[in-house]
Amino acid sequence: MSVDGFLFDAGRKMRHEEWKGSFEDYLNMAIKNPTITQLSTERIYNMILSHGTKEREDGSIEYGFFKNRIFGSTKQIDQLMMYLKAASMGLDIKKRVVLLLGPPGGGKSMILGMIKKGLASYSRTQEGAVYAIDSCPINEDPMHLIPEGRRGELRSRYGIRIEGKLCPWCQFRFENEWNLNLNNVPVRRIYLSEENRIGIGTFAPAERNDMDELYGSADLSKLEQYGNAGDVRAYDFNGELHTANRGLMEFIEVLKAKPEFLHILLTLAEEQMFKTPRFPLQYVDELLIAHTNEGEFLRFIGNRENEAIIDRFHIIKMPYNMREEDEEQIYHSALKSKLKVDNMKIHPGGLRLASEFVIRTRQHENELRVGMGGISPRFILNTIALAFVSVNKPLITPKDFYTVLCQQIHHYPILTSEKRDEYMNYLRDIGTKIHEYEEINVQPLSKSRNSNHTATRSSMFDDLILGD
Ligand SMILES: [Zn+2]
Repeated sequence: MSVDGFLFDAGRKMRHEEWKGSFEDYLNMAIKNPTITQLSTERIYNMILSHGTKEREDGSIEYGFFKNRIFGSTKQIDQLMMYLKAASMGLDIKKRVVLLLGPPGGGKSMILGMIKKGLASYSRTQEGAVYAIDSCPINEDPMHLIPEGRRGELRSRYGIRIEGKLCPWCQFRFENEWNLNLNNVPVRRIYLSEENRIGIGTFAPAERNDMDELYGSADLSKLEQYGNAGDVRAYDFNGELHTANRGLMEFIEVLKAKPEFLHILLTLAEEQMFKTPRFPLQYVDELLIAHTNEGEFLRFIGNRENEAIIDRFHIIKMPYNMREEDEEQIYHSALKSKLKVDNMKIHPGGLRLASEFVIRTRQHENELRVGMGGISPRFILNTIALAFVSVNKPLITPKDFYTVLCQQIHHYPILTSEKRDEYMNYLRDIGTKIHEYEEINVQPLSKSRNSNHTATRSSMFDDLILGD
């Protein structure tokens, strides 16, 4: 392939079809296919379903979207899907902020990252297409132009459900530029993208919490021209809440935020509106999804003033995985992707001992707290990476890996001395049977496991030992 051809081909993925049309074109499309007007929760729900589903033996559903990518979080995924389903049906649960509660590295960010990417790709497909009023700063659904009194008609005749109202910017243009004529309103197809700040917003409360980041700010360079901070033309509707319209808004470490911020968030969840200074309440359509860890959560609920706030969250607990098989799958999967190193392998016994070890660290006498602490998969992935660079051999044996793991735990700065002693004791236990892990590749058909299970394990070992 020529360099020219290579560049053209490489750029193909980034190009997308431009579509511009009139409001009439859009309405005709929506009449034929009402799903193009779907709201954000429904879009996210359908995006996940579009990757296929399968019923498991126990009657639960396996989602193709998460398969072989997320391990050991079946229950949490089910809970999230139930929420999305109920919310997309318009049930009251929609008025809650989804709060993923769990330890760092427990999969919260991973699931969110997948949904964001999935949503961006979905908006490039036919069934996931999204249209907006051209040049609207929040990419709003053109259906907002239909007056309240006429919406019922579209609902009953064509199944088009309309929610929300025009943003101040489009309202201004509709009156002044488009002469209150729907035919003058231009529409275009949009493609959701976190990088381009379309349909995906993120907010992390910082020490100096700047609310402008959430709901935009006056554009000082235009203030002089229009003379009034309440003029839409002198305001930048570019806060994260604007950006996230049509898709998803992620709040990182949400409970660390100032009360004034939480208040905005809860009004937003309840009414899907927020107040931009000097403008009327503004409608946005976005799935609100927040995350926090247990320590932060316990501190927050320890304050009685926060009781009412907690009630408005739909909490999905995301503890660490507690099944050895799933834990091994996490490492196995990473070794095939982000931890893949040419000509270097790790013996499967090393992964087995790591899985056994971390799951022991995650136990807790209080059933509710099992998996909410302990060693994260990320720690083990880092240890594998360190083993690759420090053990100068093409195959890292369980003994090699065990040595690196002991050093890492011994020097892990966030552990209290009691925790360190406890974990080192677990490791000593494991160390006494290191030969058993060494033998795994020789005897992958462990008698204690059922045949189905061993079949997948043994092919996994072949991959690791013999190379891909
Ligand atoms: Zn608008």
